[in-house]
Amino acid sequence: MSDEISQGFDTLQVHAGAQPDPATGARQTPIYQTTAYVFRDADHAAALFNLQEVGYIYSRLTNPTVSALAERICALEGGAGAVCCSSGHAAQIMALFPLMGPGCNIVVSTRLYGGTVTQFSQTIKRFGWSATFVDFDDLDAVRAAVDDDTRAIFCESIANPGGYITDLDAIGSLSAELGLPLIVDNTSATPYLCNPIKHGATLVVHSTTKYLTGNGTVTGGCIVDSGKFDWSASGKFPSLSEPEPAYHGLTFHEALGPMAYTFHSIAVGLRDLGMTMNPQAAHYTLMGIETLSLRMEKHVANAVKIANWLEGDSRIERVTYAGLSSSPYHDRVERICPRGAGALFTIAVKGGYEACVKLVDSLKLFSHVANLGDARSLIIHSASTTHRQLSPEQQKAAGADPDVVRLSIGIEDPEDLMRDLDQALDAATA
Ligand SMILES: *Cc1c(COP(=O)(O)O)cnc(C)c1O
Repeated sequence: MSDEISQGFDTLQVHAGAQPDPATGARQTPIYQTTAYVFRDADHAAALFNLQEVGYIYSRLTNPTVSALAERICALEGGAGAVCCSSGHAAQIMALFPLMGPGCNIVVSTRLYGGTVTQFSQTIKRFGWSATFVDFDDLDAVRAAVDDDTRAIFCESIANPGGYITDLDAIGSLSAELGLPLIVDNTSATPYLCNPIKHGATLVVHSTTKYLTGNGTVTGGCIVDSGKFDWSASGKFPSLSEPEPAYHGLTFHEALGPMAYTFHSIAVGLRDLGMTMNPQAAHYTLMGIETLSLRMEKHVANAVKIANWLEGDSRIERVTYAGLSSSPYHDRVERICPRGAGALFTIAVKGGYEACVKLVDSLKLFSHVANLGDARSLIIHSASTTHRQLSPEQQKAAGADPDVVRLSIGIEDPEDLMRDLDQALDAATA
């Protein structure tokens, strides 16, 4: 691991977490399609179950293909440990699970993926958890929303769909001052564009479904722990700082130090919630992640070119993309995501909702799908789909107003994408 830290991003995205297969010499990481692993003897089995020795027991907990992916994402994010799981939404529940209990709350940004708004405003209530939504540009409001039952602060680095970049430095300092872990969803930025841990994030969550896989084949999620948070300081995180009854009284923080959170997420989280990534999914994501930096460079270059062209077009009302110099968040790009503001943005077409629908229906090269971060260019009307469950106020706060469509710019030739948009805009505004 120590050699890997000194290596560059392009090297890590190909090599981190993987070695030639010890049994066969296979150069590519094999898909370990197995449920269970033979113990050497009874003592070995006991040592594994006691977490005295690290190894494989059962694939609901760990699997070598999935572990290779977790280690790779961990290296790219600069974390201490990582756990993969079945989807981005699973990663969010798994990330909160060791921190929360009935009556606990999280303070979260209003600018979030639509499904996350629903998960946090509705579904987590069934666990006795709650979320308070605030504008993360208003630090006083964030501070005021925190109470004795708050266990985490949650935001996205680049928030989709509205072209918003969170001031992670400010939120990171505030979280540290409040003694709370900061969880950052880094899906839209990827570790190539943004490293939330450098800005004070405790945990980074990903939907690996998107850019990390990059080919629209499998769903997956990942949680990376910085290893830097002191789980024992406040007494607010008893699952980590006190004997854990769900794991025969092991005190995770004392026993495992910076790996406490990661081991808890495997030994208790995956064991009992079962939100496991399967080795086939890990394989597809390992294939995709090898070219992450190359794809992100092209995604960003295409997005900048197309957003600038659209902003100057008379058929367009406005473009919200932090990569444009007109964006109110443009000055955060260099500090938070120096390699670019991602490849997601919204456009408001003159003619409002009707024109948006016609635009979507008239495109030929862009695919109309509820996904983002594919190599292919995608488009969707967020308010009627991904952000449909939200109230009009929540839609507006998230940047998904009814008169805008969201573009996820792919890695095709930008001229072809612009030609497609041009003919569809003609049809939409005729
Ligand atoms: C897609 C997405 C999620 C949810 O991930 P799934 O893999 O679809 O469960 C969460 N956050 C962001 C920013 C996303 O884009």
